[in-house]
Parts: sequence; structure tokens; C-alpha cells
Amino acid sequence: MSGELLRVENLCKAFPLGGGFLEGKKRWLKAVDRVSLHLEKGETLGLVGESGSGKSTVGNLILRLLDADSGSVRFEGVDVTRLKGAELTRARARMQVVFQDPQSSLDPRMTVGNIVSLPLKILGLAKGGELRERAAASLAEVGLGPECLDRYPHEFSGGQRQRIGLARALVADPAFVVMDEPTSALDVSVQAQILNLMGDLQARRGHAYLFISHDLTVVRHVSRRIAVMYLGAIVETAPTEKLFETPGHPYTRALLASVP
Ligand code: ADP
Ligand code: MG
Repeated sequence: MSGELLRVENLCKAFPLGGGFLEGKKRWLKAVDRVSLHLEKGETLGLVGESGSGKSTVGNLILRLLDADSGSVRFEGVDVTRLKGAELTRARARMQVVFQDPQSSLDPRMTVGNIVSLPLKILGLAKGGELRERAAASLAEVGLGPECLDRYPHEFSGGQRQRIGLARALVADPAFVVMDEPTSALDVSVQAQILNLMGDLQARRGHAYLFISHDLTVVRHVSRRIAVMYLGAIVETAPTEKLFETPGHPYTRALLASVP
């Protein structure tokens, strides 16, 4: 289970800002500024930084939910930055995402069975009764029974909804999952359950995580290495213990000082 899975190089993304009218030119916010990172197969890399530092944009660029202005994303040996059509679909089948707010990322009009099996359907990996069977199997892995298949997201608690999000992310057996603040909307006791579940699933299936959070305590708990983001750039990447013992960047030191 060793070897490189993902290599991101010099990724850049700017968003147009309001204003600039009087100067007669558009102004831009560099949300992601020359970001480079890499992930080994089966590894968890933590990506930490304050709100607005560009973490979610990095995740969305890797997943191709957004297109980069420049830079490259090499995933399983293929540069996915400019892939289109069937090739992009194939690469995407191997990458999934769990967002912070399961309420908004789970379609309230769909049954849990249809939500969980959707990646298989979109990717053409299963159809008919097999969709339901695979959804049930994936739900079982996150601790939810087959009675959930015909129910709707609003019938579940926040922690259960995040389990459903995980079941959907893992149903197509991805090599890589972006976890974007997956526990930030949950109570502390439920957070721990979801983080432990994430770890158990990874130990069993061997996928890698990019674990995004503003909360260094949470990131420390799940990651062997941590990248620290500040104003769109990664200012430091280090093994977790080293980062805590000898932080190399002033911003990392400030972040550590705020950890209880
Ligand atoms: P984080 O996830 O670290 O909180 P984001 O990646 O969401 O940060 O955002 C980084 C910066 O880019 C923020 O200033 C945010 O307001 C801005 N931003 C993010 N998405 C967009 C968008 N679609 N259009 C304009 N600005 C955006
Ligand atoms: Mg974010």
C-alpha cells in the first residue's frame, strides 16, 4: 500500500472581487496561491488554516469541482487538471468528497438508498437491484441498517447524516476522499465517533484522505502529516509530531498558541 497517489504542483486560483470600478479594472483575490502537496496511497494529510485561507478551494480544485488557473494535479499517474468527458469521469470515480454540512450535501428529496448509490449510477458501475444492494452494504459499513434505504435525510441526526455522506463517498471504492470539515457541524461526542469511524474504514479499505479543518486538534488526531495554509498559500508541511514540537513558520506558532 505504498507509493504516490496524488501530486499537486503550483496550483493557483483567483476569484474576481467586487469594486475596482473607479480604477477601471477588475480586482482579484488569490484564493489559492501556488499550492503544492502530495499524498501517499492510504495516507491522511491534514490541511489546516483559518476560515477563508483557501482550504476548500484546494479540495475543490483537486476534485475538479473548480478549474484551476494554473498548476497541475497528478492523480494515480494521470494529470487530471485538464481532463474532459469520459476520461474525467473515470478519474473522478476514484475521488470522492464529504462536506461539512450533510444537511445541504444530501438531497432532501432523495431516499438514503438513492443518495448512497448515486456515485455508482453516475459512473455506470452498477444498475437496477445491484444499486440497492451496494447501498445497503455501504450503509452497513458505517453502522446503518437496511431499514434506512427508503427513508429521507431529514429523518436522521447530524451524526447519522454524516455517516450517510461517508457511505456515499465510499460506495464506489475510491482511492482518495476529501474530507472538508466533516465534523465541524457536529457535537464533540459525535465528532469523536465519526473520526474513529473514518479511521476504521481507512484501515479496512486503504483509501487516502485529505482532511481539511480549521481545528488543529481534530487534524492532529487523524493525520500523520499536516500542511498549514495561510492567505491562500501553504506555509509549512511537516509530520504531525514535528509540527507540534518545532513549528517552523510564525503562523504555525500562532496557530499552536491558540490550541488548548
Ligand atoms: P476556507 O475553506 O479555508 O475557509 P475557501 O477556500 O472557502 O476558504 O475560500 C478562500 C477565499 O476565497 C475566501 O476569501 C472566500 O471568500 C473566497 N472564495 C471561495 N469561493 C469563492 C467563489 N466561488 N467566488 C468568490 N470568492 C470565493
Ligand atoms: Mg472551507
